[in-house]
Amino acid sequence: MTVAPTNKVQSMDTATLVLATMRRRGISGLPRNYELVYEALNASNPTLTKQFDALGRNPAQDDLDALGKKMFPHHFRAGVVEGAHDKISGELDGMLRLLKQEQSSMESYSKLLGEAYNRISSKSMASAEILNNVISVLTNATGDSMEKGKVVVEHMVERAREMEQVKLELDEYKRIANTDPLTRLSNRRAFDDVLANIYNEQRNAMYYALIVADIDHFKKFNDTFGHPVGDRVLGVVAAVMKSTLRKDVFVARTGGEEFAVILQGTSLEITMEIAERLRTAVESTPLRNQKTGVNYGPITLSLGVCMASDAESAEELYNKADVALYTAKHSGRNKSQLYKPELNQDFEKNWAIYKT
Ligand code: GH3
Ligand code: MG
Ligand code: MG
Repeated sequence: MTVAPTNKVQSMDTATLVLATMRRRGISGLPRNYELVYEALNASNPTLTKQFDALGRNPAQDDLDALGKKMFPHHFRAGVVEGAHDKISGELDGMLRLLKQEQSSMESYSKLLGEAYNRISSKSMASAEILNNVISVLTNATGDSMEKGKVVVEHMVERAREMEQVKLELDEYKRIANTDPLTRLSNRRAFDDVLANIYNEQRNAMYYALIVADIDHFKKFNDTFGHPVGDRVLGVVAAVMKSTLRKDVFVARTGGEEFAVILQGTSLEITMEIAERLRTAVESTPLRNQKTGVNYGPITLSLGVCMASDAESAEELYNKADVALYTAKHSGRNKSQLYKPELNQDFEKNWAIYKT
């Protein structure tokens, strides 16, 4: 069976076609299924269309989800979180059940103790035989209870281990979600979080500084040597930035060939020194063709710097550092520029040209 539109279905609008396909194939009306079917019918991704076709009628939800996760990164994210949630609630249910069992066995044990006490305290039962009987019942009940307690503890330890595993999976997911796969630096999402945190407490802002860096004429590397060389340039810049900065300094790839560094506890002078150190370190790192040894030419950076105390919000800080970066670009590139209020006028005058 194929999802390629027939003449009959071509006359339907897309929404009707998606619904009709889902109904015909017995696919439940979950939002993620609508998206999957929409994309499969759209035929913009032939692999998706083919693999969707292969699932046939009445596909299992697990198979649809597996396909969604493979094709759409955001499905992967939802899947991990849902999976973790299901696992955690499963573990908690298990623990609750065990505790209830334990409670009922403790209750019957205490009932036995109560009965034993009543027998012992009753005068008519004070014979050696009865006492022996009571002791043996108590011994068995105690042993039984301890045995059950041990099982409960073992189960609890096992559950705790499984919960730890879920936590590790979530940590790994968080790491993936915050990492740029090409350079292994933090990504834009992580950067936005860290930047926003600076202004969570206004007095914190005094201690931070932002450096934004953009590779000069990066497009030239792509156009002249090909995209893979462009990717290598990004890798080199990332590696040089990382090795130039202290381990605890936050550095991210915030966009195509744009990077950002957030410094804490540095004065304006030291911040500018660090920006210059980054610039010269990148400039003096050669990038050669791995086979021929030919140098692809110097890689240079333009950098914009703004102290967090010169802005009132994360957005303002980023915009001001960007204004400084724009000035560095337009005054010759391969430069570090500190933000100053007078830079704004020049920026506004040329903004339209800059963005085109
Ligand atoms: P400027 O000095 O003004 O910054 O010029 P530029 O060429 O560096 O800047 P421009 O914005 O014109 O070009 C950036 C290019 O970066 C365009 C885009 O195709 C490329 N790019 C974005 N992401 C990637 C990537 O992940 N890998 C590669 N190889 N290229 C990328
Ligand atoms: Mg750029
Ligand atoms: Mg650039």
